[in-house]
Amino acid sequence: MKQKKVHIMTFGCQMNVSDSEKILLMLHTVGYESVSTVADADMVIVNTCSVRAKAEDRVYGILLTMKGELKKNPDLLIGVGGCVAQQEGEKLLKKIPHLSFVFGTHNLHLLPQIVTQAESGKRLSETAFIDDSSRFDLFPDHGGISGITRTVTIMQGCDNYCSYCIVPYVRGREVSRKRSDILNEVAKAADAGVREVTLLGQNVNSYGRKGGYGTDFSRLIRDVAKVSGIKRIRFMTSHPKDMSDPLLDCFADVEKLCSHIHLPVQSGSDRILALMNRGYTRSEYMNRIERLKLIRPDILVTSDIIVGFPGETEDDFSQSLSLMKEVGYSDTYSFVYSPRPETKAASLPDETSKSEKSERLKRLMALQSSLTKGVQSRFVGSGVEVLVEGISKKEGQVFGRSSGNRTVNFAGSIDMIGSMQLPEIIKNLQNSLLGELKVK
Ligand code: SF4
Repeated sequence: MKQKKVHIMTFGCQMNVSDSEKILLMLHTVGYESVSTVADADMVIVNTCSVRAKAEDRVYGILLTMKGELKKNPDLLIGVGGCVAQQEGEKLLKKIPHLSFVFGTHNLHLLPQIVTQAESGKRLSETAFIDDSSRFDLFPDHGGISGITRTVTIMQGCDNYCSYCIVPYVRGREVSRKRSDILNEVAKAADAGVREVTLLGQNVNSYGRKGGYGTDFSRLIRDVAKVSGIKRIRFMTSHPKDMSDPLLDCFADVEKLCSHIHLPVQSGSDRILALMNRGYTRSEYMNRIERLKLIRPDILVTSDIIVGFPGETEDDFSQSLSLMKEVGYSDTYSFVYSPRPETKAASLPDETSKSEKSERLKRLMALQSSLTKGVQSRFVGSGVEVLVEGISKKEGQVFGRSSGNRTVNFAGSIDMIGSMQLPEIIKNLQNSLLGELKVK
């Protein structure tokens, strides 16, 4: 089979990164290998995100620039997958005449057939949902893809219908994957040299709620911890309302579970949380955080916060700021609200100006920057255990992450990759830490 080349562009969340790995596995079966530039490619796949309007606009911008690439290579195939593809389907083919094919979030396994038809000149769109766990059985395993860390999908979709969120419409309803399949994948990954797994899903801590498989998320974590060779376990993204006591207990006695949790709060105001349909109050959220900190005093917490949700007043916003300080987040991922099609919040009255929202975002980011600085400074002068993941950009250094998910660089060599090291932190570089291995 002639070796053909594909360039995959990935936007959005970790789930899309994981999907791009699956896309590449599927394309291997029809003779494609990955290249890092469009100029070298026979086909470009744009794996899209539609969680925010800005991300969606960017995708359209990129697809338009592909016109220029087609002038250089008229045989170039252009495919679009991910959430924008799911949302728009056939309409994308009409809007972008130079597009070859569209595939939805549940149709990655069809890529070999889709691409074969596109190669013979057919333009097509496949966006049907698969609403049961059979959607997890459609991919070859990770085979040759190696590394020290890996994400393992344990569930997909979401039933929560937060009023601002497009995910239930573009990723479908919540479905959990079979426990035995997850454990097999983790064991194979460990055999291939993976030392850290991140259990992945839109709402990981509701794992097992639908489909059952006689387990829940806390028991799954305990099972994964028994896989030999795995040194660390992380998970994302979790929902505050599903932070059960058994899950909190895992932080007490599962040593492999890292001291970090990404627990999106979205707002510090009860009024806005209710409008968002988040299913918890500020005090319920803080109760979970306080318990986590009691159980794991060194835990670092990160979050997502939406700024300028429809109807958010200055008082509501100041409650988000005060909550950030109360938790002491190590990082937050914040954006100005943008209405998404089909969602409830898109029809809510919104009187706050764009400039006011941008100004709030700036204030929030300034606060986070000082919180991050404070969190990172705590480590200076002490030893931090790091799983070494690779060679740093800076010559002579390696990088890895602490249990709390802070990036650490320090002088080291390639043979350290995959090992645990204990550098002393000598400098806080704001987005990372600089360490030094002390000579024994
Ligand atoms: S929990 Fe809410 S924000 Fe998260 S994916 Fe589901 S609907 Fe979207």
